[in-house]
Amino acid sequence: MPYAQVVVDFPQRWADQLFTYEVPEEVGPGRAVLVPFGQRQLRGYVASISLEPPADVVVKPVLEVLGDEQVWPFEMIELASWMCDLYACTLVDAFQAVVPPTVVRRLIKPPKARKRKKGVQGLGESVVRHDLNPAQCSALESMVGPGTVLLEGVTGSGKTEVYLAAVERVLARGQTAIVLVPEVSLTPQAIDRYQGRLGEQVAVLHSRLTDAERTAQWLALRRGQAQLALGTRSAIFAPLENLGLIVIDEEHDSSYKQDSAPRYHARQVAAWRAQRHRCTLVLGSATPCLESFVAARAGRYAHVTMRDRAAQQALPKVELIDLRRHRPRGRDDLSAPLLAAMQTTLEAGQQTVLLYNRRGFARYLQCPDCGKVVHCPHCSISLTVHRRPPELQCHYCGHRQPILDSCRDCGSVSLRECGSGTEKLFEEVQQKLPSARVLRMDRDTTGGATGHADILREFAHGGADVLLGTQMVSKGLDFPSVTLVGVVGADQGLHVPDFRASERVLQMLIQVAGRAGRGQWPGRVLMQARDAENPVFDYARRHDYVGFLEQEMEMRKALLYPPYARLARLIVSGEEEGEVENSARQAAAWVLEKYPRILLLGPSACPLEKIQGNYRWHFLLKGKQVKELAEILRNALRQCKRSSKVRWAADIDPQSIL
Ligand SMILES: [Zn+2]
Ligand SMILES: [Zn+2]
Repeated sequence: MPYAQVVVDFPQRWADQLFTYEVPEEVGPGRAVLVPFGQRQLRGYVASISLEPPADVVVKPVLEVLGDEQVWPFEMIELASWMCDLYACTLVDAFQAVVPPTVVRRLIKPPKARKRKKGVQGLGESVVRHDLNPAQCSALESMVGPGTVLLEGVTGSGKTEVYLAAVERVLARGQTAIVLVPEVSLTPQAIDRYQGRLGEQVAVLHSRLTDAERTAQWLALRRGQAQLALGTRSAIFAPLENLGLIVIDEEHDSSYKQDSAPRYHARQVAAWRAQRHRCTLVLGSATPCLESFVAARAGRYAHVTMRDRAAQQALPKVELIDLRRHRPRGRDDLSAPLLAAMQTTLEAGQQTVLLYNRRGFARYLQCPDCGKVVHCPHCSISLTVHRRPPELQCHYCGHRQPILDSCRDCGSVSLRECGSGTEKLFEEVQQKLPSARVLRMDRDTTGGATGHADILREFAHGGADVLLGTQMVSKGLDFPSVTLVGVVGADQGLHVPDFRASERVLQMLIQVAGRAGRGQWPGRVLMQARDAENPVFDYARRHDYVGFLEQEMEMRKALLYPPYARLARLIVSGEEEGEVENSARQAAAWVLEKYPRILLLGPSACPLEKIQGNYRWHFLLKGKQVKELAEILRNALRQCKRSSKVRWAADIDPQSIL
């Protein structure tokens, strides 16, 4: 009888190792089994097979072999093991990331009646094939053979047409491809462009699918019925063989990093798969992240630029409105120049996109007598006032409660709403431009499977004059009648304690500006800010993203921030503050004792000290070798005292340090 090295589905760090069991002859790597584990019977995943029994250990046989096919292809087993090394996650977390649990369930327990493959619907619009312009042609020519290509193309330069042509070429050779897009950009419009050109060859994978839909799409890829996986972050694990191309569109987007275990970045997983398949990896963006830009400058990536819009439209004119000079009245948000521009656009029969990256009606509720701000009972964050429906909401943990009518501390009955959000801006636009038809798009209006799509469809067909919303409106929308983009609170986010703050704000400003003037009329962008002297706005005005990156490179180099060093973060959380702090201090002390030369920052309370009733502490490791940092964290996690009172999380290359 052969022996299997099995990953046992038991979510404890001490169980994060391979256990050996006897298996029947026909069982190979990647199969699911049921194993005895202490007093329990648990599911296990076969990682490898050997013929020699381990020395000095009594080996038990597996209880049952589950299903009758391989669940994890060899590539996915290797990928899971690589993820454990890089991300300091457990084997179980990695195995469950590379093949979704709903697919595992389906493969080990096939349904009696076969379900038909369900299609994922786009808008059903006809698709026009455009001839590629010279810039697009040379971009396409660069996408051959192994290696990474950074495609830096301004908004509206026609990157999607290039991806489509590259995918068609790869599929025509009998190979397969993966195209990743950010969650909010995977609109029905985007799906249509691919399905219209490639039809049944496209499988779509994103988080709004039902379990049955996801399983059907996944199986279509695995069984060779579909050759292109189009999807969001986790589509990078699409079960495709013979990959010829991987594209990551809007590669700078923060949704490519998973914020729960395993905390992987789709760009890194894509690089691993591309190397294994010796295929091309394309990273596309108008605003690439600094890490990718530096890699391209250093010659590790090929660097292709598209400086002009596809149909030679000019980039929009970007102007800054200094709110210290143009103060809106009272609690209003719209300055006179922005309002006037909206009026003109409305009269011309054209459309406006208005970005305000803050949802709700008022930012917080404050007592004017004692100064107290109403906080979430579970988080160290103020509650946001909503009007539809009227309630207070925590944007971190989802806590909801009725709007208070008196101060809990001093009893004052005159609580005051401060600040604003998209709900309030919506009312202001309706009130000041009564003839305008306004749509609001934020997390509160896009609930359900079709909310997002319905709003976009209505706007696309001219059913509204103004589309206002959070950063959802900044990404990927391509509507030719949009000639004005307004940004309310353009300086918002510049002062959060994160070294990537300026990079993120500028990316968002450039992306939303790119929605203007994509059709026959020129575009105009008005950004309102109080911190009007911030250099970020000069770069935005001049469309000089590269100039920004060049000065940002110098700053990061001087301060030894990524990509000139790598970071690893350990987060400790739990309900008892003292316990959390002690655990973080002990872990940090252990690391410093074992690795006296490592650069350790902290430990300290996280900037967001409490989320969902859990206190949070963290520390950061800084170093040149990311694998070394991961190993230190993994060892620290192994030796930490097991306590049910605290939870630990390792985050390699963290994208947020809040
Ligand atoms: Zn009070
Ligand atoms: Zn909360």
